[in-house]
Amino acid sequence: FTVLGIESSCDDTGAAVVRSDGVILGEALASQGDIHEQWGGVVPGLARDAHEDAIDRIVDLAVERAGFSSIQEIDAIGVTIGPGLEICLRVGATKARELAQTFQKPFVGVHHLEAHILMARLPLEEASPSTATTNNFVFPATDLVHETVRTMQFPFLALLVSGGHCQIMKCLDIGKYSIIGGTLDDSLGEAYDKVARLLGLPVGGGGGPAVEALAKQGDPTAVPLPIPLRNRKDCDFSFAGLKTAVRRAAEKICDTEMDGNLEDLLTDQDKANIAASFQNVAIKHIEQRLERAMKMVEQEEQEQGGSKIRSLAVVGGVAANQELRARLETLCERCSSSQDNDDDEEDRWKMFVPPPRLCTDQGSMSAWAAIERIMVGSTDDPTSRDVYARYPFSLEHEAK
Ligand code: ATP
Ligand code: FE
Repeated sequence: FTVLGIESSCDDTGAAVVRSDGVILGEALASQGDIHEQWGGVVPGLARDAHEDAIDRIVDLAVERAGFSSIQEIDAIGVTIGPGLEICLRVGATKARELAQTFQKPFVGVHHLEAHILMARLPLEEASPSTATTNNFVFPATDLVHETVRTMQFPFLALLVSGGHCQIMKCLDIGKYSIIGGTLDDSLGEAYDKVARLLGLPVGGGGGPAVEALAKQGDPTAVPLPIPLRNRKDCDFSFAGLKTAVRRAAEKICDTEMDGNLEDLLTDQDKANIAASFQNVAIKHIEQRLERAMKMVEQEEQEQGGSKIRSLAVVGGVAANQELRARLETLCERCSSSQDNDDDEEDRWKMFVPPPRLCTDQGSMSAWAAIERIMVGSTDDPTSRDVYARYPFSLEHEAK
């Protein structure tokens, strides 16, 4: 079967048609980076207006690219209903509900974080990740070839690093997640965005990619920064202190305590060194917390038995970061070889991470999450569900 997925929780209007075996048949995405750039962040009212302008066109385009002439030919509709910006969520949700009712199709109200996580289970390998640019929008190509691929089975551990969240959770089944660590303040994506702003880098559509690119030119050990929470015996995160330390370090380099305009006083090499040092320490923090969580899972299993967890899903917008991907891959190898079981394949930690462009928000995540829900027989009534700015996710908070 095929599902049309719609996503409008923040500043991307995305739609995609995905087949139940994971093949993305057609997708379209309108990003609002340019609109929010001048404000240094997402302005909800402007975001809603842009979603409203784009939604019909993006849905039509995804359907057309999938090779369908009408939504009648598609089997179900899925849409993000939370968490996110309420007025933005409503644009996608209203459109999806109308379509579901008009065409009498099954409807799934998708949880955005579950959708990020489930992308790590999408059985997809891209043949040619070519992209075509039309107007101001980047439309990923639709010529994806399905090959056989590894699919990650439940239960698994997930690191969700996005614009609004930073969490480690045990993923037991569809709809069954237990959070074992969260952030005490900012998310990792927010930290990247704030460092981008401090350095005067483009932040529209997220500052992460610009910081990552600049970090490649810098020395990751040039600017000393403290690793957050390194002695805490839990799996929580904190990035606010690191962000302040980055600002202080930048001020020290410029020899000023004045706010603002640091970007004009720093040399390009200073900026690159700051970006590289920030990224290095932020990822060290992630590695330390995640390693604790992995050890915890192993220990629990020794004490209590139960299903073995040796898969790690790395998901959310920041999972597109190449340095993070490489370092966590190494962490998995290290955690696998530290216990003398080199030859026992099922004791090795394996990392699953979506292709970079499927880490950030887009329509395929809503479609795939809806497919996963439909596969377990869980659909929603299109007439009865609203949207949720806050949308509880965890079954329990097991930390501490
Ligand atoms: P949430 O999913 O928590 O509701 P969101 O949907 O706004 O938040 P995502 O689209 O998942 O967030 O991710 C966007 C975040 O990812 C932004 O903070 C952006 O800076 C960050 N990001 C994207 N690409 C990269 C990258 N290559 N390196 C670092 N950060 C990145
Ligand atoms: Fe997201």
